[in-house]
Amino acid sequence: MPNGSLPATVDGFPIGGPAQVFSLKPGSPRKPTIARGEGIYIWDTSGRRYIDVSSGPVAFNLGYGNPRVIAAMKAQLDAAAFAHPSQFESQANIDLAGLIAKHAGPGLERVWFCSGGSEAVEGAIKFARQHAVATGQTKRWKVLSRMPAYHGNTLGALALTGDQGAHDLFGPMMRLMPKVPTPVTYRLPPNHTAESWARHCAAELERAIVTEGADSVLAFILEPVGGLATGALVSPDVYLEHVREICTRHGVLLIFDEVITGAGRTGAFLAADHTPKARPDLVVMAKGLSGGYIPLGAVLAPAHMVAAVASMGGFMHGHTYQANPLACAVGVAAVSETIERDLIGNARHMGEILKSRLQKLADQSAIIGDVRGKGLLFALELVASKSAKTAIPTETPAPAAFITHALEHGLSVYSRRTNRGADGDWVMIAPALIVTEDEIDMIVAGLEKTVRDYQAALTRAGVKLG
Ligand code: PLP
Repeated sequence: MPNGSLPATVDGFPIGGPAQVFSLKPGSPRKPTIARGEGIYIWDTSGRRYIDVSSGPVAFNLGYGNPRVIAAMKAQLDAAAFAHPSQFESQANIDLAGLIAKHAGPGLERVWFCSGGSEAVEGAIKFARQHAVATGQTKRWKVLSRMPAYHGNTLGALALTGDQGAHDLFGPMMRLMPKVPTPVTYRLPPNHTAESWARHCAAELERAIVTEGADSVLAFILEPVGGLATGALVSPDVYLEHVREICTRHGVLLIFDEVITGAGRTGAFLAADHTPKARPDLVVMAKGLSGGYIPLGAVLAPAHMVAAVASMGGFMHGHTYQANPLACAVGVAAVSETIERDLIGNARHMGEILKSRLQKLADQSAIIGDVRGKGLLFALELVASKSAKTAIPTETPAPAAFITHALEHGLSVYSRRTNRGADGDWVMIAPALIVTEDEIDMIVAGLEKTVRDYQAALTRAGVKLG
């Protein structure tokens, strides 16, 4: 025991209570304590029921209590809960790699597993670098990315994440990578349409590659449909196709960050499948890959790149829990469930229904400026003025208030202020891929009440709406 005694309370909470939990912010409202879940429903310890509107942080794709996933997890636990690939092969690892390769299609036939999205992004850029060295392109190391963007929170991934606040805080600790503009579609720069801005953004990529020195640029990473940073921004096809051409022209690898979009979320196994003329060289996946049931991430790569890296003695990178058999067994069950129950088709079909209901809600509301997304990945952009597209002032109730109002109406939502409000406030509407039309009706009814209450709170706080 260290010397000295602990205080009896911290921030008003007794020692041994929630004060020891790192994430609890002083003064912030306590969250409900989860007791159990079933499908898209969660009950807290007081017996209140909530609908999980955003699949947690857009990860819990199959809903709670999936019997197949649970059975697979238990069976693997009973058989062998751990193995490290340096010592043993595992059937679960082999099966999951095969399953992913089958559904990801040609050019993405090798898979490396890790424990989440940030790790997968780190793995992808290190693999890309090693491939460059293995093929004699030793000067290539820069990875270009977009502003705004989100690629994770570890320092390597954060260097790619386009978020000024994070750069201000952690910039001195990492090597920030060059950024190019994201082809946003809502707040367009003057004299631009969405298409002309998308073309401009692609041209900016080429300009950045040339400015940086094309032979020093290793890769360009983007989210084909956005997550945290852009609120489900769908990159226009014309943009992706130009980006593909530019990367090919300069020998730059194109990496799709499909941490959120992979495994069916957008109505295709990969979001890349929506734009066949813009196939990426590498793909990273996580979240829905295990249905959210266990930490799991993956890097998908073409066989020839893996062979080149193997010629150098293999991928010089790894983690204790890489290719963990328990995580891979869950992944096999989650991907099989997604495919065999045609949850990807459900994402497309229910996505259309959800989109039209959300659009109607936006049309009737004074504070929903935009509805965007694809499949079952949508965001509502919250604004103070729809006509001027002005963001909600940063000093007034933030999305945290929206979350609180939503809980009061039985909805658990994922909401965020992006880039300290500079890139807007949004709410993710991304239920599990098992969602039904009746459940969509319940979600939208709850959202209607939440928006009404949030709008009233903004008015009370003196925010001028309209
Ligand atoms: N990339 C994208 C597009 C994401 O949305 C996320 C997480 O939300 C990550 C990377 C990081 O994943 P993780 O939180 O599992 O590290």
